Amino acid sequence: MTISLRGLTKVFPGGVRALDSLDLDIGEGEFFALLGPSGCGKTTLLRTIAGLETPTSGTIAIGGADVTALPPGRRDVAMVFQDYALFPHMDVTANIAYPLRIKKVPRARRDAAAAEVAGRLSLSELLGRRPAQLSGGQQQRVALARAIACRPKVFLFDEPLSNLDARLRLEARTFLKRLQDDLGVTTVFVTHDQSEALALAHRIAVMDAGRIAQVGTPAEIFRRPATTFVASFIGSTPMNLLPGTVAGGTLRVAGAVLPAPAGLPDGEEIVYGVRPEYADLSPVPRDDAFAGAVTVLENLGTSTLVTLEGGGQDGDLLVQVVVPEGEEPPVGTSAWAVPHTGRALVYHGDRLAGPV
Ligand code: ADP
Ligand code: MG
Repeated sequence: MTISLRGLTKVFPGGVRALDSLDLDIGEGEFFALLGPSGCGKTTLLRTIAGLETPTSGTIAIGGADVTALPPGRRDVAMVFQDYALFPHMDVTANIAYPLRIKKVPRARRDAAAAEVAGRLSLSELLGRRPAQLSGGQQQRVALARAIACRPKVFLFDEPLSNLDARLRLEARTFLKRLQDDLGVTTVFVTHDQSEALALAHRIAVMDAGRIAQVGTPAEIFRRPATTFVASFIGSTPMNLLPGTVAGGTLRVAGAVLPAPAGLPDGEEIVYGVRPEYADLSPVPRDDAFAGAVTVLENLGTSTLVTLEGGGQDGDLLVQVVVPEGEEPPVGTSAWAVPHTGRALVYHGDRLAGPV
């Protein structure tokens, strides 16, 4: 089922504009991630698609049919919440079969359906247990099983992995990806974790203050973030975003002279973005590098995040570079951060003017 949102706006009583004229098209069978910081409107968007919130204006179509006025039960969507919302007094079978009970499916058939779905999610041994007797990962799978049991046309997941510890989270992520591949059901997955969105989704929408900042594949969003907001939000380490100006067909950024993208007149102000992974450290001065003193070393496991302080004329800029483990310069020494050619991003008026 496709999902099409047009001009979707939600203003809560009190005036918070949680969704702001939002347009979005999600394809049949797509695993689609909604990514953004806390408070940007992700849950509101999901609840509006589910029919749990009424939009102030705009329309929602599922499979080409306008469902804006339909109650949740008639939209054929299943939502999995952050806290799983399992019934504590019911065993696993009854929890999974609950939506079928609501639909008045006879007991024998709904228990058989629950057992079948439980098998798929490796829950067969746990059917008689109550939620309190399950681990977090198992509870999460029961919530998924309950969503799958009613064979909806659309899955809506609101941060379903956020209550799991780091290792379980990675396992559950792989599991969820395989499940979605198997079922092929259109899925909207909300997360504030960029690595989760990049790993799982066919496409990602990055949200900022009730609007969509960018829609694209994980590769597009990672390689060509459309704005500095998206750039700063995507990546396992924060992108360096440094102010600069265009001068004589080059960029002057924090004391470095760097190639400029075509078409920018002299004197224009830009923001120069380079990921810490896309720069190297030189022990000797270079014109095309940011100079600074090494102030902090952070161990990332197989690599080290090096912070240089004092780049630029003002001497107050921070530049971070990831170097292979064992190649980090000592704290207190001088170093020069050299951006990789073709990997840096230049923003002009907060739009991407090109990689350089
Ligand atoms: P997210 O899921 O991205 O963290 P939410 O959709 O929960 O964001 O919230 C978006 C904005 O709407 C926030 O400013 C939040 O405080 C506000 N909001 C959410 N629900 C309500 C509500 N029921 N009443 C008033 N404001 C709300
Ligand atoms: Mg939320």
